[in-house]
Amino acid sequence: MLHGQMYVNGHWMDTEKKKKVLNPATLEVLGTVPSGGGEEAKQAVDGAAEAFPEWAARTVYDRHEYLMKWHHLIRAHIDELAKLITLESGKPLQEARGEVQYANDYIAWYAEEAKRIYGETIPPSSSGKTLMVRKEPVGVVAAITPWNFPAAMITRKIAPALAAGCTVVLKPAEQTPFTALKLIQLAEQAGIPQGVVNVLTGEAKDIAKVWQQDARVRKVTFTGSIEVGKQLMKDAADTMKKLSLELGGQAPFIVSKHADIDKAVEGAIQSKFRNGGQVCIAANRFYVQEERMEAFTEALLSKVSELTCGNGMEEGVDIGPLINEQIYEKVMNHIADAKEKGATILTGGTTQEDGPGYMVKPTVLTNATDDMLCMQEETFGPVIAMTSFQTLEEAVRRANNTSYGLAAYAFTEQLDEAFYLAENLEYGIVGLNDGRPSAAQVPFGGYKESGIGREGGHYGIQDFLEIKYISFATS
Ligand code: ADP
Repeated sequence: MLHGQMYVNGHWMDTEKKKKVLNPATLEVLGTVPSGGGEEAKQAVDGAAEAFPEWAARTVYDRHEYLMKWHHLIRAHIDELAKLITLESGKPLQEARGEVQYANDYIAWYAEEAKRIYGETIPPSSSGKTLMVRKEPVGVVAAITPWNFPAAMITRKIAPALAAGCTVVLKPAEQTPFTALKLIQLAEQAGIPQGVVNVLTGEAKDIAKVWQQDARVRKVTFTGSIEVGKQLMKDAADTMKKLSLELGGQAPFIVSKHADIDKAVEGAIQSKFRNGGQVCIAANRFYVQEERMEAFTEALLSKVSELTCGNGMEEGVDIGPLINEQIYEKVMNHIADAKEKGATILTGGTTQEDGPGYMVKPTVLTNATDDMLCMQEETFGPVIAMTSFQTLEEAVRRANNTSYGLAAYAFTEQLDEAFYLAENLEYGIVGLNDGRPSAAQVPFGGYKESGIGREGGHYGIQDFLEIKYISFATS
């Protein structure tokens, strides 16, 4: 049994009341964490606000050093972190290791990017003036993160915040607190000063309410559901906080008649089955040009038949359990709804019965229609829903006919088609012949209701900076 503690203003804290954390593969209690609430949330902001001026005043070279120390410690603890990720999120161990590396890429990238927080001088329209722009950290940042990437969603927010000179209060998902606590323990070990990072576990609503009402918190950065994202946006209005929201996706995956079928199948497997489909950029709706439907389906089914479901701690498992009953019910409901409306299940569609966890066999269904739930909502499970199209214009129109706009995928070997697709898909991320577009150095974020702002790359640090314009009358 694991027993976590919260880290508030440089102190590890407990509460009498605890929250249980389950292992989704076994449904056994993995451990407990404190059930923090409003009081602790305020203490964390006190610590972060007190630490802010000194942290902001450090040179970027100083902050670079702290971040790199943290990066090296994470690298030294990769096995421990990966194991925690698998135990609390269910994803296969190999994938969890990949996540730790990906998470750590953000820290190294922003350690470097700290050195490039450039200002500007602007030519004046009359002599005797010097016009300058400088960048300043926004202040205390509240970060709220989800369970599907227990490490990467944290570092993608905290690393640019710290690099920019902000201090942070973090609330990780209740399903995956242990990875977060370990990461913050390593940040402490790296010598990051008291109050600069704080992590709370407990009641999301109570904690978020206090942070939202506190005017010292100048920015909220959130990854999670559209529903909670909208609520946070409303609540942030009272004190006009800056917001970054990375919300849901419902990614279309277009296979042109000019696609390389092997590449498209590989992209489909990468994009759909990573973390059992519990990824906000996971492909959800597959539009395949009529002429290639048969060839794509055959090649896809052959690859899907090689995938194994099971406990992610076991060697050779490709797909772990879904995180909880709620997601399981949603996935099964999408399958049942598709069946009822005329889809044909080609493989899967049922529960994997040999474990207590919520496991759904990798599923491929065809004859999907645009009115099915799996074509309209984020499934967040290992389900490929396919439909055919005749022209690329039709595919793009159907792909864009949604309130989501996070990621889209398109496969073709023809240059004109590639450009047409990339330019016309209304999505923040387009994977062109690529099922895995994520990386620390690129902008990640959505159009429409999929969010606001961009994380990653040089874009990702700008959201943690204020722009100050200084007009200096020199004569
Ligand atoms: P998911 O469906 O991925 O669990 P949520 O949006 O429910 O998405 O959760 C993402 C994060 O938001 C988690 O850390 C969760 O605890 C937190 N959260 C959930 N409800 C609220 C809320 N009302 N206010 C603030 N944070 C919340």
